[in-house]
Amino acid sequence: MGNEKLIQCPGCGVSLPSMGMPPDPRFNASGECWVLYMELSAYMLGLADTSFPHQYVVDAFAAQHSGPSVKPINTLFALVGLYLAVEKGFTGRQVQRVHMLLAARGREWPRLTPPTTPGSVSVRDALQAEEAEDRMAAIKNWDKSVWESWANERQRVMDIVKEVS
Ligand SMILES: [Zn+2]
Repeated sequence: MGNEKLIQCPGCGVSLPSMGMPPDPRFNASGECWVLYMELSAYMLGLADTSFPHQYVVDAFAAQHSGPSVKPINTLFALVGLYLAVEKGFTGRQVQRVHMLLAARGREWPRLTPPTTPGSVSVRDALQAEEAEDRMAAIKNWDKSVWESWANERQRVMDIVKEVS
């Protein structure tokens, strides 16, 4: 360790050893955090699970890395996914269907205000769980933690889901 330089992710707050990566422009994320997201994504897609659990990772990461440069629809749809997964037990595939129904409405989406403190679970926690079962449990825990952190906007998200259900 010693003189190892740490970079704190502006979204999830996790500090990671610097890899000299530029921040990802689509999310409020450090490049180092984005690398972990890519690694976890590759793992999830490799499962080739038709219920598409990768959606749980996509939505947790997007909702935890919201910010002024992130499109409102990306944050909102991520929270819709977390709500349906955490509180309604939807599969990733079922979440995608709701995303499609919402997108078909073709309306403007509000810009949601991120929580001042991000959920305490991050992409790093999911990757640190090595056994498949533990990793899926860590991902569900991550989803729950991020969804709960957005307490100030949860009602607005649930109202929007009602528009298509
Ligand atoms: Zn992050």
